[in-house]
Amino acid sequence: MIDLHTHTSASDGTLSPEKLITLANNQGIEAIAVTDHDTIEGLPEALETGKRLGIEVIPGMELSVEYGPGSMHILGLLIDPEDKGLNDALTKLQESRSDRNPRIIEKLNELRIPITMEEVEKISGGGQVGRPHIAAALVKRGHVKNIQEAFDKYLKKGAVAYFERDRLTREKAADAIHGAGGLLILAHPGTLRLNGSAFDNLLSELKDSGFDGVEVFYNNHSHVEEDRLIKIADKLGFIISGGTDFHGDIKPAIKLGVGYGNMAIPYEVLQEMKERV
Ligand code: AMP
Ligand code: FE
Ligand code: FE
Ligand code: ZN
Repeated sequence: MIDLHTHTSASDGTLSPEKLITLANNQGIEAIAVTDHDTIEGLPEALETGKRLGIEVIPGMELSVEYGPGSMHILGLLIDPEDKGLNDALTKLQESRSDRNPRIIEKLNELRIPITMEEVEKISGGGQVGRPHIAAALVKRGHVKNIQEAFDKYLKKGAVAYFERDRLTREKAADAIHGAGGLLILAHPGTLRLNGSAFDNLLSELKDSGFDGVEVFYNNHSHVEEDRLIKIADKLGFIISGGTDFHGDIKPAIKLGVGYGNMAIPYEVLQEMKERV
């Protein structure tokens, strides 16, 4: 079995790349893609650990692109982490995050929550800081019960302490991933918040603009949803992907490899990707 969507402490996961790969190996997972948000900083350690333990590690990442009213995330899988175009695009995204995080903190301070960037950075463990770390700091201080409440009250799109950051357009994200030799996969299509023919139409638009596949197997997909996505993928010639979106303790209900407990993604999914590349 494999897992093609996971996060480490390089972004908003809680396990270091080494710990994540070790856990995957202990669980008997055959191949694991590391797909941190907007960064590939965790890949060298992950790849090295994979080599040492004899488990296949697939270099990847996850990008949020411009899209509303829901969100569109793209996985880049089987990328070359050394690619210059990709690294340049990611550096720009980091800069935009460094602009945004202090603004969120400042807004929370205005709301009489005396949270500091230092404590958020401590929670992030030295990797890239994202909203889930700010959420965890709010939980730790007792301002909210859990991460979800932190997002709902303060951090989600439209909430009081939400600030936009620069995101790539779909086209730029596609260029960055394809430029690095990777496959472009639409992640967790449920967050597009589209149904019926609107959903089908967007997917065929994505196919036309160069997307290679769609994440069919995901932690909250029912078998009915999977079947429907498989049909659409077949019709469009999309490759099928699957992963848990494991984040460690920040989303403790989602387990590596199995999601909420019942996922089992076969190695053939990865085999087909390699053939497509
Ligand atoms: P950031 O990269 O700082 O924009 O944070 C994005 C991450 O925050 C996503 O990967 C999710 O894990 C989490 N997130 C975004 N929106 C929500 C939400 N409404 N509720 C809970 N978690 C969310
Ligand atoms: Fe995340
Ligand atoms: Fe995502
Ligand atoms: Zn993810």
